[in-house]
Amino acid sequence: MTFNVLTLFPRMFEGFLGETMMKRGIEGVIVRVNLVDTRDYATDKHKTTDDTPYGGGPGMVMKVEPIHRALQALKGSGNREQGTGAGRTVLLSPRGQQFDQKKASEYATLETLTLICGRYEGVDQRVADHLCDEELSIGPYVLSGGEVAATVVMEAVARLVPGFLGNPDSLKEESFTPTSYKLKTKNSVEYSQYTKPEDFQGWKVPKVLLSGNHAEIEKWRRRHIKSIGTR
Ligand code: SAH
Repeated sequence: MTFNVLTLFPRMFEGFLGETMMKRGIEGVIVRVNLVDTRDYATDKHKTTDDTPYGGGPGMVMKVEPIHRALQALKGSGNREQGTGAGRTVLLSPRGQQFDQKKASEYATLETLTLICGRYEGVDQRVADHLCDEELSIGPYVLSGGEVAATVVMEAVARLVPGFLGNPDSLKEESFTPTSYKLKTKNSVEYSQYTKPEDFQGWKVPKVLLSGNHAEIEKWRRRHIKSIGTR
């Protein structure tokens, strides 16, 4: 799967892409991440990517032309090495539909997902209206830019791409996944997990988990699935 990320700050992704799971996923060509510096597609000699809002008001708004040009360049780049053009095109925005596990599974089936990161006061509305398939929010709060949101989306989606996780069984019992065999609804979260030592400062692991009795362990786990919202 290919992620294209349009951003004014591609270096923000270096740490995330250079370590652990994403690093291995990229090396194993399970996922590709194509960072596109929106500034490279600015049309004037000063490489302007933002301007003052029509109607007045504080701050700056990201311009439509550089984003349009960057997307056009991606669309013209549809080949195996670079992914398949822009694919599903998503503007990260607090106004968008809220990201959840279901959305992550939907994206994980795509060949290409393009994430557009806004900055400043946001992005000219014509990007959402004419250049994107949807707007996506990672939650009801305001970030300073879409980069962290894009990271959240890539992290949640990549682990659902076949071959990304070392042990695909990890996906069988996942929080927020109603198809997981123990979880009933999309609001269910996995049971509590423990590892050694059995006793740390008097904080003990529930006895049943040490019993080796699989039926009892299963019962305990089913009882300890929680529903978010009721915690
Ligand atoms: N003035 C806007 C906030 C702009 S924040 C408002 O009040 O709604 C700047 C950029 O950060 C946005 O364009 C978007 O790309 C990103 N961003 C901020 N919060 C976000 C969220 N909750 N989810 C996804 N992206 C977000």
